[in-house]
Amino acid sequence: MSLDFSINSVQIAKILCDIPSVSGNEQEVADLIQESLSEFSHLSVERISNNIIAKTNLGRDKRVVIAGHIDTVPIKDNVPAKFIEDDTILWGRGTVDMKSGAAVMVKLAAELAEPLWDITWIWYENEEVAETLNGLKQLADSRPEELAGDFAILCEPSNAEIEGGCNGNIRVRVYAEGTRAHSARAWLGDNAIHKLGSVLQALANYQAATVNVDGLDYRESLSAVGIEGGVAGNVIPDAANIHVNYRFAPNKTIEDAYQFLTGFFAPLRVEIVDAANGARPGLDSEFAAVFISAVGAETRPKYGWTDVARFARLGIPAVNYGPGDPNLAHTDNEQVPVAQIIRVEEGLRAWLQG
Ligand SMILES: [Zn+2]
Repeated sequence: MSLDFSINSVQIAKILCDIPSVSGNEQEVADLIQESLSEFSHLSVERISNNIIAKTNLGRDKRVVIAGHIDTVPIKDNVPAKFIEDDTILWGRGTVDMKSGAAVMVKLAAELAEPLWDITWIWYENEEVAETLNGLKQLADSRPEELAGDFAILCEPSNAEIEGGCNGNIRVRVYAEGTRAHSARAWLGDNAIHKLGSVLQALANYQAATVNVDGLDYRESLSAVGIEGGVAGNVIPDAANIHVNYRFAPNKTIEDAYQFLTGFFAPLRVEIVDAANGARPGLDSEFAAVFISAVGAETRPKYGWTDVARFARLGIPAVNYGPGDPNLAHTDNEQVPVAQIIRVEEGLRAWLQG
């Protein structure tokens, strides 16, 4: 089966939504994208697992990478998609996250035979599940040259505005230690749980910073997300710990974040559970300025960690720009204004075609 490119990206979005592709089951939707694009002589199309890479090779002096995942979270009576409210809204699983963005990419990949810059289009699998399965991560690890470029866009939902970079993310455990004793003779022990009281108070009182990075304001968060301790109902506990999550602005490294946390919780021991660097918005480059003015969208900070950071790690500035409200992603009521799909298609077309 192959797409008919006389239809617009809104209709393509509906077709992609109507092919279920919950993570791990992307084959059919990947087949459709691959078969539809392989007929175009301006594209070289390659498939690795259920990841499709379509490239122009026109010898332009710059290359942009435009990527999006083709899997969705599980379906909840919301496939097939349907048009509602006088056809102004497309409703259903994947309409926001992110088959509308994937559809715009398919439409433009087919039609932009002479773009101003060479383009690498990537549709990838397994974004909504464990990071080890993530198609873009697998490409970044095994074929980093496929991700090479001067600027990257992920067509993740951003309300058709430009969301730059993302906060970093570190989880730590903060350990309090004491001495065990029978609770009938508590004075012989040293209660580790009690020592966490001042830590919790400090977390509750903490005013997280807002940090301006490359012109965008990133709001940080520092939160207790779990607590453990206790031996038995008649024992003064000798150990307790708090699980803390710190979302830090992208001008900081994991090391900076860890230094901050060890200072904040001193003298308690702080151990890293996991951590990921953020990504600077990358909107201060000349090339990004051309993109921003061509698409005519607002620029905003992104708070959650996204695959944008994978490009940042490869030294490629990257942003999110796609149709749909990210707050509706993964909800049973996923829906996208048709006008946003069209706006993103027109924005990218204006930028890539000049
Ligand atoms: Zn997504």
